[in-house]
Amino acid sequence: MEHIYDMVVIGGGPGGYTAALYATRAGLDTLVLEKLSAGGQMAQTTQIDNYPGFENGIDGYELGEKMQAGAERFGAKTELAEVSAVYLTESPKRIETSEGTFLARTVVLATGAGHRPLGADREAELTGRGVAYCAACDGMAFRGKTVAIVGGGNSAAADALILSRICQKVILIHRRDTLRATKIYHDPLMQAGNIEFRWNSVVDGLLGEKRLSGVRLRDVHTGETDDLAVDGLFVSIGRSPETALVAGQVELDRGGYIVADESTRTSLPGVFAVGDVRTKAVRQVITAAADGAVAAHYAEQYLAETH
Ligand code: NAP
Repeated sequence: MEHIYDMVVIGGGPGGYTAALYATRAGLDTLVLEKLSAGGQMAQTTQIDNYPGFENGIDGYELGEKMQAGAERFGAKTELAEVSAVYLTESPKRIETSEGTFLARTVVLATGAGHRPLGADREAELTGRGVAYCAACDGMAFRGKTVAIVGGGNSAAADALILSRICQKVILIHRRDTLRATKIYHDPLMQAGNIEFRWNSVVDGLLGEKRLSGVRLRDVHTGETDDLAVDGLFVSIGRSPETALVAGQVELDRGGYIVADESTRTSLPGVFAVGDVRTKAVRQVITAAADGAVAAHYAEQYLAETH
């Protein structure tokens, strides 16, 4: 007879490992499936200053490892596996992965959100050839060079600051004339000395044959275009949720996020969604972690009522 876990968590970010920590401490037999390494998106951030308890901030990768170790101390298991299909209406619920099939009484969806592509022609072809999505991961490849970054949110602001310390010049391209990013970023951006702004502008085309050599910008008010020579383009225009696996099984909103309120319960009994992948107002490490604790609580309640 195949082993049936009380809980399988898909995704080892802060939401996933907090669910696993709380579940194992409640005595649930818990497995975390993670395709790469603990931490999720957080692992790509070098400095996290808004997760309490670390007065000097902490590296996101290190925080991910600590969250994994904390859950494993109480018996949570981790399997490095890529999930290929889930069958959430079956009983037990079935998860197919690169490392085999896993069965579970409850499933916590903690798959997070990936980068949103710009949608420009030849974007996929030039990715890794000048087009990038993560300053902390790929910034060093542009040391001493000129790069542009598209976006006006917290991610674009944080990435622009990282790049300003590595690159000779950073040009921030935003489609409006004010940043969406919180005020804490504004002064450092203005004071960096090597960050320029192109307001009211969008990227209309990617230039270069085998490698990106520049971008065509369009002024959203006048429609005028001009070409800007850059060695790299970082796209930082938000996230899109990783929900392709569960589409058609749990309810999604128009943006593709899993519909779940603060209880983290989805439209399917015994299936919970935590962190950036669910509908919520504030997507932060701390709110993902909070979701994990709540999911474990309701999973425990569900198991008590049904098993
Ligand atoms: P975001 O807050 O949704 O911002 C996306 C930005 O990209 C916006 O400025 C948006 O413009 C622009 N944009 C969207 N689609 C575009 C397109 N097709 N072309 C050009 N520009 C486009 O996303 P994010 O910055 O990735 O942040 C995601 C979440 O993580 C947020 O909740 C954020 O607060 C959080 N986060 C927090 C921190 C921190 O607190 N330190 C750091 C990173 C991320 P408009 O402004 O015109 O809509």
